Amino acid sequence: MPSFDTIVIGAGPNGLAAAYRLASKGASVLVLEAAAQAGGGAGLAHLSYNLDPRVEKAMGLAAHGLDWVARDLATTVLSPDGRHLRLRGAGVEGDLPDADRKAWAALRGRLLRFAAVLGPLNQMAPPRIAKGVGNPLWQLAKIGLKARMMGAKDFRELGRILLTNVFDLLDDELSDPRLKGALAFDAVMGGWAGPRSPNSVLPWLVRLSGQVAGVQGALGLPKGGMAALGAAMVRAVEAKGVTVRCNARVARILVEGERVTGVALEGGEEVRAARVVASVAPKTTLLSLVGARHLDAGLVTRARHQKARGGAAKLHLTLKGLPDFRGADPKDRLVIAGSDHDVERAFNPVKYGRVPDRPALEIVIPTAHEPGADGKHRLSIVAQFAPHAPADREGARKAMLAACLAQLEAQAPGIGAMIESAEIWMPYDIEDRFGLPGGQWHAGELSVEQMLFLRPLPGIAQYRGPVAGLWLASAGCHPGGGVSGSAGWNAALAMEGAK
Ligand SMILES: Cc1cc2nc3c(=O)[nH]c(=O)nc-3n(C[C@H](O)[C@H](O)[C@H](O)COP(=O)(O)OP(=O)(O)OC[C@H]3O[C@@H](n4cnc5c(N)ncnc54)[C@H](O)[C@@H]3O)c2cc1C
Repeated sequence: MPSFDTIVIGAGPNGLAAAYRLASKGASVLVLEAAAQAGGGAGLAHLSYNLDPRVEKAMGLAAHGLDWVARDLATTVLSPDGRHLRLRGAGVEGDLPDADRKAWAALRGRLLRFAAVLGPLNQMAPPRIAKGVGNPLWQLAKIGLKARMMGAKDFRELGRILLTNVFDLLDDELSDPRLKGALAFDAVMGGWAGPRSPNSVLPWLVRLSGQVAGVQGALGLPKGGMAALGAAMVRAVEAKGVTVRCNARVARILVEGERVTGVALEGGEEVRAARVVASVAPKTTLLSLVGARHLDAGLVTRARHQKARGGAAKLHLTLKGLPDFRGADPKDRLVIAGSDHDVERAFNPVKYGRVPDRPALEIVIPTAHEPGADGKHRLSIVAQFAPHAPADREGARKAMLAACLAQLEAQAPGIGAMIESAEIWMPYDIEDRFGLPGGQWHAGELSVEQMLFLRPLPGIAQYRGPVAGLWLASAGCHPGGGVSGSAGWNAALAMEGAK
């Protein structure tokens, strides 16, 4: 076996982005992946909203096969009476009061402006709060200046909405329950927070700071699905000389004399390297792979307390034919959210480990864009909210599937009879399958107290791990999740700058 100076644990988007950048700077890199296939959560995702443009360009993903069937998908907000709303950018088709149409255009414009100001933070290590610790002052000054350039009114408004919740924000501006429901759902997607939870606007801004093909706030569907994006990343790293080894689960990070010396795989094989980059969740890295005995007690406590509750389930359906959502365009992203109140009601039972009666659904039908030879259609659905730790896992899984199917039947009568197969992954199934603690979309909740210099934990927020030679590079680090590669890229930059 050849020797490597760097081992990356996990071949998800962040591990691959880090591996690429390190290899392009001359490192010899081995990526160890537990699953049979590389790509990580790209195979779980169904839409692109924040692929990091640095990663896309530097890795040459287009040359490695990334193409798009849609770069700016419209969203149809489904209504059981057929009065759907179709949103694309700030425009709305459908019967919506004029006042709401104008208010939404203005609100979206404001949110995008604010998100654009915060966006550059995604492309750097979080600032440190201690004095004289080498913050990238020039980058921070540029962000501060951009914020000030918005003008006093916008600046005050940004401060206000950062501290508010999305339910109140929407209630202040809009009246239509369909529109408010869909937007409330967008804001809390991937989180463990209802629209009324404190600070629920901030993660929405983070989401809106992403882009697809240069269009901020867009949603993209890669040709061949999101797994194809992951596959393009794998081809890019391999072309750079990185070795990717699948079916290779790391059981332990080896620490000798307070330094990392390599990893031990399940089964006992040891692989040595002076640098280990963990692109699996920080909680798992610290508590399971490194182990409490190599960490200071305060850090162990903080890691144990880090919140990683997943609230999204994933449902895959195969249908005999194309379902009819009362005339909605099946190529659109379809949303079943009811109202803003309904989204909050879908969150309430999950707090107590129970399944909601009417989960909110985001539906993508990739086969409407790229029909298969068999004439069947595949629906990929994110369902919120789902409990991450119910008392009865099997019972909750069954109840969640039934609740999702009832939601679908109400919007597309007859869909149930078209189903050939249905598979639902609850947050705990996602944890088992993808290693995301709690099945959490961001490998650690993206809540205000776990962001920036507090992410993943105070003291290790600049990607440098707590043991010499260990680096952290997963979505659990700043700036969070999505198939973006940002955390991995930032981590590689931090390694380059390290003494
Ligand atoms: C239900 C759901 C739906 C989502 N939908 C979308 C979406 O539509 N669009 C989007 O952009 N994002 C979506 N996400 C989020 C996205 O999947 C993640 O944020 C993203 O994959 C995180 O990337 P990562 O590289 O940090 O980690 P991961 O993608 O999780 O990669 C980590 C890799 O490490 C491997 N691994 C774990 N433990 C070990 C070990 N001990 N040894 C070796 N390998 C190991 C895992 O198998 C995995 O391949 C969704 C998440 C969820 C939960």
